[in-house]
Amino acid sequence: MINLLIPFMALAAIGFLMSLTVHILALAGTLPPGGEAVFGLHIGIFVVWLPAVLVSIRLNRGQRTRSSWKQMLAGCPNWMRYAVMGLFAYAFLNFFIAFSGQEHSRGHGSGISTAELRGFSGHWMLFYGMAFCILFSALRKPWLLSIAKCPAGHEVAHSDTFCPTCGKAIPPRNA
Ligand SMILES: [Zn+2]
Repeated sequence: MINLLIPFMALAAIGFLMSLTVHILALAGTLPPGGEAVFGLHIGIFVVWLPAVLVSIRLNRGQRTRSSWKQMLAGCPNWMRYAVMGLFAYAFLNFFIAFSGQEHSRGHGSGISTAELRGFSGHWMLFYGMAFCILFSALRKPWLLSIAKCPAGHEVAHSDTFCPTCGKAIPPRNA
């Protein structure tokens, strides 16, 4: 069942690398070959986000207050969590810069400008990267997808050490 995630993870990785390529080309002021075919990356996001969202709902089970990134990416190594945070900050900064200077870089006679592509591709990188990390998290620690319970049977978050309902200590996981 969990192996079903692997093709989506591969797709997210390919999508990320393609978005990164488009992004670097756009930064260099070049449009990628294939014209508007590049917006296929827009559609690919929905393909990888559907399983990523379903998985993240499961990863957040038992979390009472909010859906947390820490919880969703609990199966990822630290560097991956920092990379996602970095991508998040970069995507927003990039989007702002790309669209604030747009008038100056229109041209090429085609419908797409490099500024537009630069703005969009930053977000594509973020979405593919996040989808990849969520799926990777679930694949590396599949027990995160199961429901954690305290010794008295209350539903708890995997990160809880004490049951918020009855206060019983929760035995630590050995994974
Ligand atoms: Zn309890």
